[in-house]
Amino acid sequence: MGITLVLPLRVLPAKTPAPMISSLNGKICTVIRECTVDDFEAEILKSRADSDVMEFRLDYLDPAQVTLELMGRWVSMAGVPVIATLRRKPYGGLFIGSKVDQLEILSKIQGAGFAFLDIEIETLEVLLPTELGKIKRGPSRLIASYHNFKKTPLNLDPIFHRILAVEPDVVKIATLATSFSDNFRLIQIINLAKDRGVAIIPVAMGELGAYSRLVASSCGALLTYASSRKGKEAAPGQLTAQAMHYVYRLNAINPNTVFYGVIGYPIGHSLSPHIHNYAFEQAGLDCRYLPLPTSNLEDFSPHLENFSGLSVTLPHKVSILKYVDSRHESVKQSGAANTLVKGDRGFCAYNTDLEGIRYALRDCLDGQLPRVVLLGAGGAARSAALVLKEVGCQVTVLARDQNKAQQLANDFDLESDSLDQVEQYSGDLLINATPVGMSPNSHEHPVSEAILNYGTVFDMIYNPLETWLIRKARANARVVSGLEMFVGQAARQFQLWTGLEAPIQGMREVVLQQLRAG
Ligand code: NAP
Repeated sequence: MGITLVLPLRVLPAKTPAPMISSLNGKICTVIRECTVDDFEAEILKSRADSDVMEFRLDYLDPAQVTLELMGRWVSMAGVPVIATLRRKPYGGLFIGSKVDQLEILSKIQGAGFAFLDIEIETLEVLLPTELGKIKRGPSRLIASYHNFKKTPLNLDPIFHRILAVEPDVVKIATLATSFSDNFRLIQIINLAKDRGVAIIPVAMGELGAYSRLVASSCGALLTYASSRKGKEAAPGQLTAQAMHYVYRLNAINPNTVFYGVIGYPIGHSLSPHIHNYAFEQAGLDCRYLPLPTSNLEDFSPHLENFSGLSVTLPHKVSILKYVDSRHESVKQSGAANTLVKGDRGFCAYNTDLEGIRYALRDCLDGQLPRVVLLGAGGAARSAALVLKEVGCQVTVLARDQNKAQQLANDFDLESDSLDQVEQYSGDLLINATPVGMSPNSHEHPVSEAILNYGTVFDMIYNPLETWLIRKARANARVVSGLEMFVGQAARQFQLWTGLEAPIQGMREVVLQQLRAG
């Protein structure tokens, strides 16, 4: 079904003045990349509210549809400066025409009011001087772009100078980040551009490049690209424009902003950026919490200094200890860290999972102590064992690997057995500290329904919110979701980083909203 246009067709002047480039510094550019005219228009309309700039990826359309009249209407509809891009296939686009075809289309739509034309360097550097001159004299500013979808070359300076040779208005370098430090090498190129007085857009593509997408603009990059919504990414690793605005408040990030983040791998589904950025905003702090996916701590460690605090998740909870200056008692006892706090004497490691467990079990541990059956013998089970032992609970550890269960039990003077024997045991409190039942395997369960005769069941999993275990136990038992532990440990992190009381109810609401939205 066709889309009803809400904006009238507007005849544009032959030459629309491009905005002053500097007025776009640090702005969010939403990429529109639809394959049909109707979808393209619908996406422009939906994206208007969250876009400072838009890029129209015209190579996604049938070239016959890219007319001056339609482009003029779309530019007008966007209501923000627009970049036109007709990327050729060999350089990462979908346009299968030749250089000549590409120039013909771009020159045909010159009067549509585009603020910028983005043309790949490989095309620009084979143009005749007259052809290049014609593009530069046109009404749109020229972005000359380099893409590398395989890696970030070690030395980016020659690439910068190669692009500079065509004297564009804006240099764009987009390369795949294969390590966290690639972000920093790309951001450093901004200084080179400042020295040469040219605007620059450095982009580290891929999931490891989120840091560059969120931080480069506060270091002087012109734009950062965003997708119009999830699933509409035009390049790997693009965040949505909504997340950039409302989770990371990107437009307010400045050179004084203090950064925190989460390191681990994978962390694509982490809710920590949502919960912590909410808490920082509520407290009126100019701080941001970033996703920092990294599987290689050695590569990440030289950049630790850029952060005032970090959450640490799998697989780095133990290996991070090599890089810290001191360890809080919670780490000495549990043997693992999930939080780093920068202080006068360097980084101190903490384990706030202990606080998360105490918070989750706050109503269970203040009266008669429960007899506990603890499933799992990993890091979270160890933290639970510590908290339960500290208050004097009688605990039995059950794990699929009996040796691991026994080892944990020996460390804390507890009982242990194989998880296979779970039906032999009973108690007041059952704790699931295994990932069994976690999304996407939410149909799985660590025990059968028949043995759910505990007064309280605590499932450490919080995604899904309602695990099989929680759902089945609810009929006869008090249930505690992993959400409580997650919120409790995050609140403690916030307090350690800022010295302030965490807005814990609001933090819970934020996580609930995200989980419900899927
Ligand atoms: P971990 O260190 O990897 O330990 C996982 C434990 O579960 C190990 O004992 C492991 O046994 C066992 N396990 C794994 N797959 C199993 C299966 N299919 N059947 C039976 N046992 C299995 O992980 P963790 O950090 O302790 O985390 C455990 C759970 O707690 C996860 O679901 C995690 O999401 C949750 N958690 C929640 C929070 C929160 O804030 N709510 C915080 C931390 C952890 P093997 O050693 O034999 O592999």
